[in-house]
Amino acid sequence: VAKEFGRNGYQFYAPEMNMRALDRLTLESDLHRAVERNELFLMYQPQLALSTGGVIGLEALIRWRHPTRGLIFPDQFIPMAEECGLIVPVGKWVLETACRQHAYWVAQGITTGSIAVNISAHQFRQTDFCEQVSDVLLRTGLQPHLLELEVTEGVVMQGIEQVLHKLNTLRELGVTLAIDDFGTGYSSLNYLKQFPLHRLKIDQSFTHGLGSDQESGAIAKAIIQMGLSLGLDVLAEGIETQEQEKHLQALGCNAGQGFLYAKPLSDEECEQYLRVTSSD
Ligand code: C2E
Ligand code: MG
Ligand code: MG
Ligand code: MG
Repeated sequence: VAKEFGRNGYQFYAPEMNMRALDRLTLESDLHRAVERNELFLMYQPQLALSTGGVIGLEALIRWRHPTRGLIFPDQFIPMAEECGLIVPVGKWVLETACRQHAYWVAQGITTGSIAVNISAHQFRQTDFCEQVSDVLLRTGLQPHLLELEVTEGVVMQGIEQVLHKLNTLRELGVTLAIDDFGTGYSSLNYLKQFPLHRLKIDQSFTHGLGSDQESGAIAKAIIQMGLSLGLDVLAEGIETQEQEKHLQALGCNAGQGFLYAKPLSDEECEQYLRVTSSD
């Protein structure tokens, strides 16, 4: 049947596949312009100390306000941006915007906590990545120890020599390092011990298992015990219930983040949240 359509290669594909490829192409070219057109913005989710309930930091989370498609979440465009290299300008924009906003809040005296920024694999592997980070710190005036970079296991467990060098350079700059979604990828515990890490972030799938799913709950416990015994700070992502919080507190987990405390907030909402919580 396909032969009848001659060189029109697209006829070989099912219509839905064609649509998806087309969709992706237009989305890609739209993302090219999104930075210039101010369509990207950040939300900020509070991170709390589980022992005191005090705010210790914020995580910056990207959103895209698309002119015709409406609000787009990162899972729907970050993997694509990563594949086509657009993550480089997008990632620079995120780093700059998050640091500038946070430096402002610090200057206002409404927070002493840190700002966490997600760094993708492609971004981290750029040869001048450390320079980009130090330039941003200089430009925005943010104190280095208030910036935390979140990378996943996949990013740090590949090309260990270079990664170790990079992580050490970043540590010398004074920024802190966290492993995001910990437990969902592959980590060599031997390397984990050698890396200059500050924090492990337990993936929310394990947090959700506490008190309900025995196996996931057991993994959460194991990660906390291992992290603490390696001298790392451990933060649980995706805390939604008081029961999960109680389990985590009992296990000695240091910090948490999740809808139980706050959803990702716009800059105005976050400013309000910080003012209210810092005056407690
Ligand atoms: P992540 O870094 O692991 O961020 C946590 C995600 O969990 C966020 O989704 C957050 O909104 C969501 N979350 C927080 N608390 C809860 C909870 O209690 N329950 C549930 N069900 N979800 C919760 P979001 O904002 O959609 O981001 C998804 C992922 O996209 C992030 O996962 C991160 O990997 C990536 N991402 C977000 N912003 C950026 C960015 O600026 N750069 C890069 N490279 N990746 C980003
Ligand atoms: Mg993260
Ligand atoms: Mg995560
Ligand atoms: Mg994630």
